[in-house]
Amino acid sequence: MLFYVANMTFGLPETSVLQPIWDYLHTNHESTLRSPLFPVLLSVSTYLILVALFTVVDVLAPYCPSINRYKIHPDKPVTWTDIWRTLGLTTYNHLVYIFPATVGQWLWRPPIPLPKEAPTLSEFLLGILGCTILFDFQYYLWHLLHHKIGWLYRTFHAIHHQYNEPFSLVTQYLSAWELFSVGFWTTLDPLLLQCHCMTTWGFMLFNIWISTDDHCGYDFPWSLHNLVPFGLWGGSVKHDAHHQKPNTNFAPFFSHWDWLAGTGTALAQSAAMRGRESKEA
Ligand SMILES: [Zn+2]
Ligand SMILES: [Zn+2]
Repeated sequence: MLFYVANMTFGLPETSVLQPIWDYLHTNHESTLRSPLFPVLLSVSTYLILVALFTVVDVLAPYCPSINRYKIHPDKPVTWTDIWRTLGLTTYNHLVYIFPATVGQWLWRPPIPLPKEAPTLSEFLLGILGCTILFDFQYYLWHLLHHKIGWLYRTFHAIHHQYNEPFSLVTQYLSAWELFSVGFWTTLDPLLLQCHCMTTWGFMLFNIWISTDDHCGYDFPWSLHNLVPFGLWGGSVKHDAHHQKPNTNFAPFFSHWDWLAGTGTALAQSAAMRGRESKEA
């Protein structure tokens, strides 16, 4: 067990604060949780709920200055044409690739066994952090290659760059190959780190949230990049800068790889951020 030490307090097993939640899920929803369909349904429904909420915010923004002031590009409203086009590709990807892959899993994969013990809180949080760090590195390399090699860019990644000012639905405005790569690492990383299935599902949800947050087009005071210290988290402002200047900010979440490789840009400052700084000055 990777985080075995964290599971012990002075030689005694630590009782997990997550155990009551796990016991409840185990007792009442065991067959649902064991189904190979469950992770896919969890991911798809979380993504749809998040983009639905952000799309409502996008539609209201032009009429509500209190929302629009947090937009990274307040002068570029999201149009209904943008919404329908991105929703169209998202629906196509789900029907043509995700749905058949889900049915395949359902037919060929046996139901997964569920352990009786929940992960400890430290196992749960460190597992999610570990998977996120690993995923960030894998996507950084993939992303760099797909920008540096012209054929890879044109064939697989250019579609995602059709939008210079991203909004939430651009998150999965992707080619099938990019969608497959992202799905593969999200499935593989918790297996590599030997995570508990509860941690795996937690990572899946967290990954969907931060990917959507990256593309949301807003710089809220409570956005993760404004809460994580030392500029360690890239978030929506740095990823927006990548869509503006595609040879910068390749890492999806953290800032360290772009900083080490010199591919980060210091120009990533939103109108909302400039407004906050001028108020503070
Ligand atoms: Zn993007
Ligand atoms: Zn890119």
